[in-house]
Amino acid sequence: FSRLTSGLKRSSSKLGDGITGIFTKRKLDDDALEQLEELLIQGDLGVATAAKVTAELARTRFDKEVSPEEVRSALAEQIAGILEPVARPLVPDPTHKPHVVLVVGVNGSGKTTTIGKLATLYRKDGKRVILAAGDTFRAAAVEQLQIWGQRTGCPVVARQTGADAAGLAFDALKQAREEAADLLLIDTAGRLHNKTDLMAELQKVIRVLRKIDESAPHEVLLVLDATTGQNALQQVATFKELVEVSGLVVTKLDGSARGGVLVALAEKFALPVHAVGVGESAEDLRPFEARAFARALLG
Ligand code: GDP
Repeated sequence: FSRLTSGLKRSSSKLGDGITGIFTKRKLDDDALEQLEELLIQGDLGVATAAKVTAELARTRFDKEVSPEEVRSALAEQIAGILEPVARPLVPDPTHKPHVVLVVGVNGSGKTTTIGKLATLYRKDGKRVILAAGDTFRAAAVEQLQIWGQRTGCPVVARQTGADAAGLAFDALKQAREEAADLLLIDTAGRLHNKTDLMAELQKVIRVLRKIDESAPHEVLLVLDATTGQNALQQVATFKELVEVSGLVVTKLDGSARGGVLVALAEKFALPVHAVGVGESAEDLRPFEARAFARALLG
């Protein structure tokens, strides 16, 4: 967890120091509330959340002298309350053989890396995991997944560049069934500049998976890069139009000053946040813990 705390340093010092600046020897008056609201918006918590939490603070403490510490812990409490309902680990259903996870997101968001990290996690748990290199457009994406396969000892189903992603997904699910795998993690392309093509491709992948298992995919995991800040919100809206997103993984929280975007995401979409990425290596995936995250965010 210390990795997350240190990773969030830039988010937390922005908010924490900001709060100290506003509230040292200061009454909670309109001016202070306005400054606080602005600080929270700049901290990527979103306009709605910023208004909501400052109003709640005003309700209980207006016109009273408050210390920065008191404000930080009152806000942390409220933010934890917003995050708690979405903080849910990814638990593969053992009755699904395999539990099929389709991983979507724009290029560079951390899809392939997250698949590698998830594979590491579930392999440690003794699960049989198969990876499918469904981003058939980029040779580098296929190679990268193959490296993760070697590292984690998971078979990788891949084809040459330009191959049909749906055909590949079909073969991967077939193989996963034959090998009685517990988990199938499917990488996908993230060419959002061509939304119609991407939608057609993802929907075709889902259609063919359902020919083998009509309940598949069991999760559609959207991977978001925290460093994109408010842009992440737009990505969720866009991907929700393309596929039925079931949950989120937010990456690159190490060293990002934009960790507050998780609060905005929770408030706006209420989608489960299954894990957060705090680095590039296999172990750098953490369960998303609402209370600890809220506290780390506020410094
Ligand atoms: P994809 O295009 O969505 O598959 O994204 P990749 O998995 O290839 O990741 C893009 C880049 O982000 C790579 O250089 C990864 O090493 C890096 N990356 C992924 N997750 C994290 C993270 O949690 N923290 C950091 N610092 N880098 C990450």
